[in-house]
Amino acid sequence: MTIRELLHNLRERLIPSMSDLAQSEAEAIIEQTLNITKALLYINAPKIVDKTDLKRIEQIMERRLRGEPLQYIFGKAFFYDREFFIDENVLIPRPDTETLVEAVINTEKDDIARFIDIGTGSGILAAVLTAHRPGWTAVAIDVSYKALKTAARNCSNGNIHILCCDMFGAIKPEKQFDFIVGNPPYISSAQMAGLDKSVVNYEPHTALRGGDDGLDYYRTISSQAKMYLKDSGRLYLEIGYDQGVSVPKIFTDDDWKDIAIIKDLGDRNRVVLIKF
Ligand code: GLN
Repeated sequence: MTIRELLHNLRERLIPSMSDLAQSEAEAIIEQTLNITKALLYINAPKIVDKTDLKRIEQIMERRLRGEPLQYIFGKAFFYDREFFIDENVLIPRPDTETLVEAVINTEKDDIARFIDIGTGSGILAAVLTAHRPGWTAVAIDVSYKALKTAARNCSNGNIHILCCDMFGAIKPEKQFDFIVGNPPYISSAQMAGLDKSVVNYEPHTALRGGDDGLDYYRTISSQAKMYLKDSGRLYLEIGYDQGVSVPKIFTDDDWKDIAIIKDLGDRNRVVLIKF
């Protein structure tokens, strides 16, 4: 079978479950397995695919057709400007979270800063932010030790300290951080039931579930963050598209004053920026 025939075969089999994405996923499966770029895939289209590669591709297709996301199958995902290691212990990075990265980079002007990444998961926020601002140092926290093993692979630039604890539990309340970033679990119990099967069956529920109304972690952050932030510190938190009123209310009730909502590329509420 040639690469061209293989591409056609994979696309046709993927169309029923993923329609528009079938072509790009078929390409990705071939690119990853043969370790070639998209350009080479098309240049080499008339070439014959060898048997071992075909076998590996069949194994990948079996998993993909059962619903497993390609990012877990390949153990990597693209976020912001680079590829990250991921596995079943961490969420697949979402493009929505890039809005949070942009908000921090566009707002924080100081060359030197210390920040907390609360609920770091795969470590993408700490990794991207410290890569773009080499004078920044991060404490990346997660309650999941397994998630942090993956984060450690992504956060090796020397400016990130990784800490396993529940919320701020292991940080001294000494007001030493310039800002806090986080993408906490924010899915409500009702929404959990309606999530896509590829999410429910494969992604870690502890990284998604935000309690009954989805707001548990915002309540904890709102009541505790001032003990860790400097007096002029900032909070940058991802929120669900439908939490643009409920999350700010939690912070207003706790006397936080300056609260702004930032929209994502789809024009949905996505980030709260809160100043002390
Ligand atoms: N954006 C994710 C989703 O919709 C949820 C991420 C989160 O809970 N922090 O699946």
